[in-house]
Amino acid sequence: MTLQDVLDDIRKRPGTGDVIPIIDPVTEEQLTEFTDCGAAGVDEAVARAKAAFEAEVWSGLPGAERAKVMWRIADLIDEHAAEFAEIDSANTGMMKMQSELVVPTCAEFFRYYAGWCTKINGTAYDVRSTGIAGAGYVDHHAYTLKEPYGVVGLIFPWNGPIFNACAKIAPALAAGCSSLVKPAEETPLSALLLDRLIHEAGVPDGVVNLITGYGHTAGAAISAHPDVEKVAFTGSTEVGKMIVQASTGNLKKVMLELGGKSPVLIFDDADLDKAIFGAAMGIFVHSGQGCVCGSRIFVQRGVYDQVVEGIAGVANFMKYGGPTEEGVMSGPLISAKQLSRVLGYIDEGKRDGVEVVTGGFRLDRKGYFVHPTVLTNVDPATSRLYKEEIFGPVVSIIPFDDEDEAVAMANDTTYGLAATAWTTNVTRAHRIVKRLQAGSVQINCQLVFDHDVPFGGYKQSGWGHEFGKDGLDAYLKQKTVWAQL
Ligand code: NAD
Repeated sequence: MTLQDVLDDIRKRPGTGDVIPIIDPVTEEQLTEFTDCGAAGVDEAVARAKAAFEAEVWSGLPGAERAKVMWRIADLIDEHAAEFAEIDSANTGMMKMQSELVVPTCAEFFRYYAGWCTKINGTAYDVRSTGIAGAGYVDHHAYTLKEPYGVVGLIFPWNGPIFNACAKIAPALAAGCSSLVKPAEETPLSALLLDRLIHEAGVPDGVVNLITGYGHTAGAAISAHPDVEKVAFTGSTEVGKMIVQASTGNLKKVMLELGGKSPVLIFDDADLDKAIFGAAMGIFVHSGQGCVCGSRIFVQRGVYDQVVEGIAGVANFMKYGGPTEEGVMSGPLISAKQLSRVLGYIDEGKRDGVEVVTGGFRLDRKGYFVHPTVLTNVDPATSRLYKEEIFGPVVSIIPFDDEDEAVAMANDTTYGLAATAWTTNVTRAHRIVKRLQAGSVQINCQLVFDHDVPFGGYKQSGWGHEFGKDGLDAYLKQKTVWAQL
């Protein structure tokens, strides 16, 4: 399925709502358009998903059979890797090398979770208790069963379209759930190819259902639907809160992977070359459109000037451009809306007296490109750009005197997704790991991930975990069984 095929196919998808354009963020031209499926489309998909779940066409298969199908999906993703990379790069403007690196990790999601299909077990307990009669001890055998939730809604953003889709679909399939797969309205194209391959691999009809539409229509309909048992959402904290509110009708369970304003602490004993490059990449790669991007960098005063200069140097060296342009190290922002949002924060900062060390402007070319931007003289008490998630290539660099001050400033945020410490002092590194209020703390590295390692946010950055066994358990409920012996 070529890029042209998906551009044509999405036009044909049924819908009754608004026509949604898909814009190439590099050329600012329309690639294609599709019709919002709206609440009616969600109702139909939920009915199909529910029927498939109740008929046990997927959840009733032995784990080993589900695993075989999931391995086939992984192989098909690998076979179509070039198409996935081309589609996601065209849709997001992401550099080709980046999308080519991501696709194999997507296939691995299916292989990794295929392994869990045959290991979904509860626990057995031998219990001797008085029971309700109270006349002597009674032996009981108790055990737990892990059961799929049923129909689940999987809603995710545009910043890694195929990655976000696979990270949710693979564990949901392993658990035996039926799902509604709702990509962002800006980037539904690679999900179309994935949907086709999932069915080609042998997943029965009704088990995975692609939903194409806006968040406030289709996404909201999934979140409020009485037959959806759980929503697994990745996106902004603002929308996460809306989903929690929408879920109250049937008290559906909600898993949230939300925004961040992640701190990076650079101590004067750090390997500064590595720290400077790592921290710069940790915010400027993918134009800062990563949930764990380190958008607040705290630097010990003795090395502050050197680090500011170093990070600004990387910012000035990095070439931003389209997926196939020569020597490009990062792509554009996703949309005109995101561009004006990012520039709005920078302009407000300038009015507030923030010092722009480098960047702070839109590139003089077609496309939604903002020059990587380094800001100093930012007031943590009042600055909105310091407190709020920008989701762009914009970083505030702030000096600190000692560890206590650094930790206090790092934790002074409503978010708690990730944090990084650059230091060669191993004792200090492990000491501050315990003090940092973040679901993921990296020592001398940034932007690392593995399928096996759980990931989730503290505070307003999330509920629950993805990846690893925790990621599977997110799609399983637990039943307790008692038998009197
Ligand atoms: P967003 O919250 O606007 O949209 C995400 C998804 O939610 C989209 O599919 C959208 O259509 C849908 N949506 C929007 N309104 C909805 C509603 N009312 N009900 C249900 N669904 C709705 O996020 P975005 O701007 O597309 O993505 C950027 C955000 O995602 C950032 O905040 C970023 O930090 C976050 N993110 C978090 C992680 C993580 O793992 N923690 C990973 C990637 C991105």
